[in-house]
Amino acid sequence: MPELPEIETLRRALEPLLVGRRFETVEIFDRRLSAPAEPRTLAGELSGGRVQRVGRRGKYLLVEFDDERTLLVHLRMSGSLRHWARAALPEDPYRRALISLDDGGMVGYRDVRRFGTWRLLGPDELDGYLDARLGPEPLEASYGAAELGVALSRRRTPLKAAILDQRTVAGVGNIYADEALWRARLHPRREAAGLDADELRALWRGIRAALRRGIACQGSTLRDYAQPDGQEGRMQREFKVYGRGGEPCERCGTLIERSVVAGRGTWTCPACQQLTPTRAPVVAGRSRS
Ligand SMILES: [Zn+2]
Repeated sequence: MPELPEIETLRRALEPLLVGRRFETVEIFDRRLSAPAEPRTLAGELSGGRVQRVGRRGKYLLVEFDDERTLLVHLRMSGSLRHWARAALPEDPYRRALISLDDGGMVGYRDVRRFGTWRLLGPDELDGYLDARLGPEPLEASYGAAELGVALSRRRTPLKAAILDQRTVAGVGNIYADEALWRARLHPRREAAGLDADELRALWRGIRAALRRGIACQGSTLRDYAQPDGQEGRMQREFKVYGRGGEPCERCGTLIERSVVAGRGTWTCPACQQLTPTRAPVVAGRSRS
């Protein structure tokens, strides 16, 4: 469940701990984590690597080595990374991998549900791998409402489903999609291709504002996510709608409702986010006026 703000928080915390460090030994205890590579093979390939940069693309954490290979870490549902500086390691039955650094520090990867993945790619594979799976980075300065509009214009799906598709915009998941839609006053069941210019701009602004707020709060901790020092994020205290069914909307006081959109639990304000109240119905792809 970690999304862009959680991974970006992780990246910022790990960067000073990992850059310049060498992976002395790597142990991988779970076949699912390294698949399709064998755990022992991947661990062997990672051992000895020196970290040059810690990056992020969408929900992927990118550990770049000085030989231009990159370890892609995806936490999926319940993964987390923890760093210890020369401390005795606590027992953890859910630890799936352990990295020993050349300064005596350790990085443990924990994953209760085991959907997380580690994959090592060479410089000629990386861009193709990421570009096939991810759309633009929403917090880049060059990302504009027009780019979001192009991605949505091809979609006949509900707006929320389109936003959750990582090829529309990278890094937005269930939490920040709901938060962005509330900020933009848009109903998640609106047709993705049906937004006008003002609505597109509101959504673009809403996505960026929700993600920035998440980063400023060091992400949200609902169950498994934590920062590398074990601290929880604080964004869960600031959700506008996510998980707040039955509580008043801070804008209008109407009680927030839970529904299911695109197969996901979805929270909205029924007053602020109406399903095309002033629009003519669209029939057979043509607008009746
Ligand atoms: Zn409201």
